[in-house]
Amino acid sequence: MWNTSGKEDNLVKDLKETTLTFEKLGERYGVSRQAIHDFCKRHGIKRSKRPREHQAEVCRLCQKLIQISKKPHSEFISIHTIVKETGESRGECHYHLRRLRIKGLVNKKFGRLLSKRLEKAYAIYFTKRLPVSTIGRKVGLKNFHELIQRHREKGYHVPSPLYVYDGRERSRVQKEFHRRERR
Ligand SMILES: [Zn+2]
Repeated sequence: MWNTSGKEDNLVKDLKETTLTFEKLGERYGVSRQAIHDFCKRHGIKRSKRPREHQAEVCRLCQKLIQISKKPHSEFISIHTIVKETGESRGECHYHLRRLRIKGLVNKKFGRLLSKRLEKAYAIYFTKRLPVSTIGRKVGLKNFHELIQRHREKGYHVPSPLYVYDGRERSRVQKEFHRRERR
């Protein structure tokens, strides 16, 4: 099977110098995976270890992160809370989050919120029927309105407030916005 000139040498080389699987090598040489395995054994070739690829399916931290990301409005869960809930370090969380985002296993915005205060403000915003300015005051954020706008512009999904503004308040809020825009 391996008598074609040079074929055997090439396979030895591939086995020694690459980390391609037996399966891939089988495809390359037009033989079965098993044939490559046997060849490798017969020639006593020691293969270099493949660097273990990160597998989200079996990574405990990734699974935990995915679980958190499925909560409602998870884009607004701050990194502090995520770190706390996973019990891992921040660096570790960032590393796995990056991988999950690339693979599309979590929302691209998940794990990017840095401010605890803003997280608190949003938690109130999503559950309580209160004016935005009141929420801002409660948590000590003067510009909560502006931050909501900025998040919307960045593509975060911020639903309308539960609080319904009456006519007078609405015009006051709009005026406030215009004033800010002109600045
Ligand atoms: Zn992971």
